[in-house]
Amino acid sequence: MGLLTIGAFARAAGLTPKALRLYDELGVLTPAAVDAESGYRFYDPSQVAHARLVARLREIGMPLAAVREVCALPPSQAADAVAGFWQRVSADTSARARLTSALVQHLSGRDTMNDFAYAAAIDPGTARDDNEDRAYAGEQLIAVADGARGPFGAAAAAAAIDALKDGAEVLTALASADRTIRGLSPDDQPVTTLTALVLRGSQLTLVHVGDTRAYLLRDGELSLLTQDHSWVRAQVDQGRLTAQEAATHPQRALLVRALGWSDGVEADLALRTALPGDRYLLCSDGLWTVVAREALTEVLASAGSPQEAVDRLIAEARTAGAPDNLACAAYFSIA
Ligand code: MG
Repeated sequence: MGLLTIGAFARAAGLTPKALRLYDELGVLTPAAVDAESGYRFYDPSQVAHARLVARLREIGMPLAAVREVCALPPSQAADAVAGFWQRVSADTSARARLTSALVQHLSGRDTMNDFAYAAAIDPGTARDDNEDRAYAGEQLIAVADGARGPFGAAAAAAAIDALKDGAEVLTALASADRTIRGLSPDDQPVTTLTALVLRGSQLTLVHVGDTRAYLLRDGELSLLTQDHSWVRAQVDQGRLTAQEAATHPQRALLVRALGWSDGVEADLALRTALPGDRYLLCSDGLWTVVAREALTEVLASAGSPQEAVDRLIAEARTAGAPDNLACAAYFSIA
């Protein structure tokens, strides 16, 4: 097949001739040949894929200088560069969204920001020297993660939480965390659970993958906000196991979803509004398997602060044996 005129090539690539001339001048997409007399540009049909990549990168708003760099990379590195670009855009947009939201609420006299307090703690438990659980509590985020599969489990858990700390939009952060974890150790293939509350005033986004859990104490009632992504939970849902059988089943720690698995990210997301007096608890399975629900309720209800709650819960878990690592984080909306 011969060379294409700029008009035919533009139609094939989904670009305009004007854009193609600009991309030539900037070195983003060089024609296969230029007629010496007329100056007409001609393109090889094999350049269509390159041109379509340029068009798609422009659609996501990537500056031309960055487009030129990405097009010169091998596909896997180009994928990382595009993901990194979007992570930065998303973090910037998210930061502006927070400022905008606060400004709108302030100007409209509807400043619904509650006073709140938060705390997090981890503990290796009584039977293990290492700790693959991670927990974090800050003004914008509380999170717990339970890493698994060898020496990189803790790094996987940390990567999941770090991705949300950056302030990027949640789906972008999850994809970034998944990519980071998959790159940690191809031999060990570490994975992690993640349960997090992204905090924007009274607006909360609950993010959940795996068998770490989120609970809410409201008006004295404790609710479990998450569903375990575990094999035994699926068996209970399908009527093959009772809840009692699941609690002691040898495969009870087997996950059906986690971050770092090669088949893509699947997470549960929920938007919630914090009410004054709400007390949220996030914890790993090391805690909720040994501290009874009644004790969770009692500690959350009576603790004077989130710090007191997480300290008492870790202590209760250790008293109960704590064979697994422990992580918990608490967020109290002050009444
Ligand atoms: Mg665990």
